Amino acid sequence: MIGGDAPISVQSMTSTRTEDVEATIAQIQRLEQVGCELVRIAIPTKEAVKAIAKIKSQISIPLIADIHFDYRLAIEAIEQGADKIRINPGNIGSKDRLEKILKVAKEHGVPIRIGVNAGSLQKSLIQKYNGITPEALVESAMEHVRTCEEMGFFDLVLSIKASDVPMTIEANRMLAKACDYPIHLGVTEAGTPKWGALRSAIGIGTLLAEGIGDTIRISLTGDPVDEIRAGFEILKALHLRKKGITVISCPTCGRLETNMIPIAEAVEQALADVEKPLTIAVMGCGVNGPGEARWADLGVACGKHSALLFRKGQIIKKIKEEEIVSTLIEEVRKWEEKNSS
Ligand code: SF4
Repeated sequence: MIGGDAPISVQSMTSTRTEDVEATIAQIQRLEQVGCELVRIAIPTKEAVKAIAKIKSQISIPLIADIHFDYRLAIEAIEQGADKIRINPGNIGSKDRLEKILKVAKEHGVPIRIGVNAGSLQKSLIQKYNGITPEALVESAMEHVRTCEEMGFFDLVLSIKASDVPMTIEANRMLAKACDYPIHLGVTEAGTPKWGALRSAIGIGTLLAEGIGDTIRISLTGDPVDEIRAGFEILKALHLRKKGITVISCPTCGRLETNMIPIAEAVEQALADVEKPLTIAVMGCGVNGPGEARWADLGVACGKHSALLFRKGQIIKKIKEEEIVSTLIEEVRKWEEKNSS
């Protein structure tokens, strides 16, 4: 479910060639393991469209077929069992082609995401607005919405994406005012994992904080697994979702007497598979350490090559520097076992 009271979902898109069914399934299964809730695959060819049924049989999350240019591929994707299709009506061609897609989607009860991208905006709108502007992007989306509504098709998700963050923010604010359809948020072509996630967090996070957005995709140049992790971090930071480990760790400073940076990284990495929400504080010294460690579910406040271990605000024991990672992992695994019901 997207929209209404449904939790804001995190989605991704595969980077394998869809025609390579085995590789695509393997990547989707990796995405499922880190909590991906919907996955999109590119459908550029007839061979790719034929892969849909095979891929679907091996995965458990909804599959979205992403189609550009060829309306016949969209129709066939629906017939092959895609759970949703994403089209950019700007490049699908004439209105009657869109109508043909809508007819088949309606017959199969398949929702459609209308995705407008700054990079493929209709020329007529670029001319009208003297360039690519938030107004032009919204007008494009709303034009397509009206066509769908005229056809009696309302099962829509909308997205307006640009690589420019302020433009993405402004266009989505306007879109949210213009209609009530669920909105898919993303900053398109955001970049490489580290900085792309940061740019996405600013664009998507600003909108989510204003109550705009129903599903998100972080577009990163790299392993799509990172997109899911980044997506949940954004939602967790805004208290919109709870999931997995949140490591609170200090930036370290001249008071540090333990090699803490690799400890925080090792803990985060080793516990990336945890699904239930849990906060772990890894703090460098006695200044803010005990305070943060007390508030977290589990925490360490480091001292001189040692640390105090906290569990739910209570000091449990003093441990040596080399025991910190293994002790935290052990504590979390025990907690998982206890809460596994
Ligand atoms: Fe520095 Fe201690 Fe604060 Fe970490 S917790 S930044 S080591 S004062």
